[in-house]
Amino acid sequence: MAGIVVVFDFDKTIIECDSDNWVVDELGATDLFNQLLPTMPWNSLMDTMMKELRSQGKTIEDTAEVLKRIPIHPRVVPAIKAAHALGCDLRILSDANLFFIETILKHLGLEEYFSEINTNPSYVDEEGSLRISPYCDFTNSPHGCSLCPPNMCKSVILERIQTSVSTEGKKRLIYLGDGSGDYCPSLKLKEGDFVMPRKNFPLFDLICKNPLLIKAGIHEWTDGEELEQILLNLINSISIEENAQFLSADCKLQTISVEALPQALPVQQ
Ligand SMILES: [Mg+2]
Ligand SMILES: [Zn+2]
Repeated sequence: MAGIVVVFDFDKTIIECDSDNWVVDELGATDLFNQLLPTMPWNSLMDTMMKELRSQGKTIEDTAEVLKRIPIHPRVVPAIKAAHALGCDLRILSDANLFFIETILKHLGLEEYFSEINTNPSYVDEEGSLRISPYCDFTNSPHGCSLCPPNMCKSVILERIQTSVSTEGKKRLIYLGDGSGDYCPSLKLKEGDFVMPRKNFPLFDLICKNPLLIKAGIHEWTDGEELEQILLNLINSISIEENAQFLSADCKLQTISVEALPQALPVQQ
């Protein structure tokens, strides 16, 4: 293992658009969505919209079919597969919902590549309507973060990932995102980590206002091609750096088991 954890936002990072907007638009409910948006939180609105679409006769299969047509840059799937082949632990941290994400990942043949999907839970109810719940129970246990929407503060999840990976000996994080919800977790990244904000999207603009608040290295990207190049370069440079550190500590080598040796590059078959 490369000892690197890569955390991906989903909407406008892995896929090109916002999956919630895509489903609403493709199933013909944009006007109602826009009308209700000022009246409730986004996450609650999506639950309402899915119930409304069901009452108009749309099935869960209709939703799945629409999700399978979602635009994605052709270099994103190869980038994810290459990062996985280099030994990275890949995770998703998204404010979409589990049904949307799992349907798309399965369609792209990517469901085995991620060790975790952290997102809003969803299920199909007895009427056949997709129900979407908030990740965080904001009435009984609010997350208390003023930067984030009530249903999800991505920092809560990122900090849990940071704690768990430090006990597994994986030290470096790379975070990819585009939205304002990705700013809060970017502030929690540490020196030696990297943040990859999508250029000219809200996360990038927020970071640019005061880059000194970010302890991680900042590497912006514009499209899937740059995402692939920059991500793989970062993974390789971290691996080389960690190998060099490891070899320079050669006096300690005899006490470390072979299993603990970092593998910087994949074995070519
Ligand atoms: Mg996003
Ligand atoms: Zn937050």
